[in-house]
Amino acid sequence: MKSFKTLKGSCGCGKVKYQIKDKPLITQVCHCKDCKKSTGSSFVIHTMVFEDDFSVDGNVSSTELPTGSGKGMRAYFCVICGVYVYCQYNISSGKGGRIAIRTATLENPITPDAHIFVKDKDPWIDIVNKNICHDEMYDRDKTWSEQSLKRLKEKMN
Ligand SMILES: [Zn+2]
Ligand SMILES: [Zn+2]
Repeated sequence: MKSFKTLKGSCGCGKVKYQIKDKPLITQVCHCKDCKKSTGSSFVIHTMVFEDDFSVDGNVSSTELPTGSGKGMRAYFCVICGVYVYCQYNISSGKGGRIAIRTATLENPITPDAHIFVKDKDPWIDIVNKNICHDEMYDRDKTWSEQSLKRLKEKMN
């Protein structure tokens, strides 16, 4: 058995805590207008994990929000401090379901693997690694690691 050190995170006030018990699939920064609005900042950083690997403690509420893809997502936030801790895109629910953790709520930050909707990026942000920038959404087969693609395929079967 491979060993994986559980990842932990929490909301702003600490009443909502979560754990991720297996390796995340990808970490991506989204610069779209919807993510700016929902964060009140210039971008969101999302770490994708399987729903099965994710557990949460504490009281969360949720609401449907628009996304750059137009398909929408459900965002979950702490009922006390209101910090959005994670969300689920409507396209990634069901079999092989995935959760997008707001990476900055993790105890230890993860360096992003990709930037998406760079066409909407704030002009004063300069991304050093242009190789991981995408104008809009990326092609998953070309961007996710081989290992992550394999794990997704296994979950979908
Ligand atoms: Zn809180
Ligand atoms: Zn976005």
